[in-house]
Amino acid sequence: MVLQDLGRRLNSALQSVSASSTIDEQALDAVLKTVCSALLESDVNVLLVKRTRERVKRQVLPQLEEIQHKQGTDHDAMAGNKAKQLIHKAIFDELVALVDPGDDAPPAFNPVKGKTQVIMMVGLQGAGKTTTCTKLATHYQRRGLKVALVCADTFRAGAFDQLKQNATRAKVPFFGSYTETDPVSISLQGVNKFRAERFDVIIVDTSGRHRQESELFDEMCQIQDAVEPDMTVLVLDGAIGQAAEAQSEAFKEASNFGAIIVTKLDGHAKGGGAISAVAATHTPIIFIGTGEHLHDLEKFAPRPFISKMLG
Ligand code: GDP
Repeated sequence: MVLQDLGRRLNSALQSVSASSTIDEQALDAVLKTVCSALLESDVNVLLVKRTRERVKRQVLPQLEEIQHKQGTDHDAMAGNKAKQLIHKAIFDELVALVDPGDDAPPAFNPVKGKTQVIMMVGLQGAGKTTTCTKLATHYQRRGLKVALVCADTFRAGAFDQLKQNATRAKVPFFGSYTETDPVSISLQGVNKFRAERFDVIIVDTSGRHRQESELFDEMCQIQDAVEPDMTVLVLDGAIGQAAEAQSEAFKEASNFGAIIVTKLDGHAKGGGAISAVAATHTPIIFIGTGEHLHDLEKFAPRPFISKMLG
């Protein structure tokens, strides 16, 4: 189920609560059944869905009983409304919790003007790294920061040309090489050059592979050791589904990335896999990619995201 459909399904489940005349445990189970099957069909990890269901029930049931107990003395309609609000809030909060790694997760990274900060992008080939690098560069540039791009992808033929084209279109200075084959050397040269020129943000685009493999992780760690990024960002394809959890865990172990950008959430992505990656790696999503164009990047925040999804 794609993300927009998930939103519609969740919304109609919540509306069915509002329309229902009796709010009791049975009604709560019915709405949770719809919510949970919608989440599962969107590839949210089964254990997370189970946890969501249990947490909503644990939160709602005692209060629901209390409301029902009072119902004799209270106006029925008022008690009913209270119960409906309770269920709405509990489900909304748990949906937010799915995409929120919590207060003990690393804080969102905000580059500042006047000091050089290096961002390294990692992820599998095709996830959208190169596209996202330029989007991110443009985002920071529009906020007044001096930004440059470094292409450390020597694995994929045409990677440098792609970054060069994107960077030129976005008017972002870039560094790369057609002849140098060592990604560590290129990234270091690029970062050193832009550091010396006092750029605020240097974004390093690394190469991916079609699948996780030790060669990719070795290269990633070597680049990381060389350029010492202030932030490593995992770029995750929003359409990868259930594989997202294992993939993000493997990248977390190898690179200890501090933020996630989920791409392609405009298309037919189910998105649930990416949601599971947040929980699996305890790392915040900072942006989402919503198209192929330069400005198709949205800042991510859990509450507004869920509100918008529910429409
Ligand atoms: P890389 O191999 O990780 O560097 O991936 P690329 O940046 O080359 O992106 C792979 C494909 O995904 C390209 O066709 C991009 O235009 C496309 N792409 C990247 N981000 C998005 C996005 O947010 N939405 C859509 N629809 N396509 C995207």
